[in-house]
Amino acid sequence: MKILVPVKRVIDYNVKPRVKADGSGVDLANVKMSINPFDEIAIEEAVRLKEAGIATEVVAVSCGVAACQETLRAAMAIGADRGILVETDAELLPLAVAKLLKALCDKEQPRLVLCGKQAIDDDANQTGQMLAALAGWPQATCASKVVIADGQATVTREIDGGLETLRLNLPAVISADLRLNEPRYATLPNIMKARKKPLDTVKPADLGVDVAPRLTTLKVSEPAKRGAGIKVADAAELMNKLRNEAKVI
Ligand code: AMP
Repeated sequence: MKILVPVKRVIDYNVKPRVKADGSGVDLANVKMSINPFDEIAIEEAVRLKEAGIATEVVAVSCGVAACQETLRAAMAIGADRGILVETDAELLPLAVAKLLKALCDKEQPRLVLCGKQAIDDDANQTGQMLAALAGWPQATCASKVVIADGQATVTREIDGGLETLRLNLPAVISADLRLNEPRYATLPNIMKARKKPLDTVKPADLGVDVAPRLTTLKVSEPAKRGAGIKVADAAELMNKLRNEAKVI
């Protein structure tokens, strides 16, 4: 069973994003970029399925600028067998990525696409769902446990107030939530090995996909600064302020 894992290059989660002075977007100049954390979890899960003898090949896919090669190498250092870069300088919205992934699924014929539940830069939480719709495949989002057996996936999802268990026929799309696993550290030997693994590059036009954005970003701004806190003398003053100033009780 081949597993395709889409991995996105995003601002590292430790970096505080800065908005460009003209408000046109987030400033990416000289900013540390990393593999999207949920995609790292998806890769780890796919690699564990391979180690368990369930998957035969793990293919990482990244769509974006040439530097996404680093993201693919990071995925290969965790254990992905090879990488595919869909190279473009165009701004990619979730629908465009879903169309690119659909075209790659037609070509690669994976039995499972294991993506992250959301990218931490756009927080869209859309790409996996759109891919499932385009491919006509079942989907289970926000997986905290995945069991594959007899051509089916049993997926546990954390939902409000409990756990939901779904059974899907393969091929399917599953998106990884935070508690699915804890990704291993990429060791130096594995980082070195990853450099020699195959990495193919294609262009959106090779896949017959028009990636032109359907949405325009009008403005990006910083969140409002929080005011300084105050100290209250006692519980009575706190209650008074909550009731009469903040008006929250
Ligand atoms: P999003 O819908 O943007 O929140 O992203 C959800 C998931 O789709 C991510 O966790 C990735 O697995 C995948 N994805 C989104 N954008 C890309 C991209 N440019 N390249 C590869 N995978 C992507």
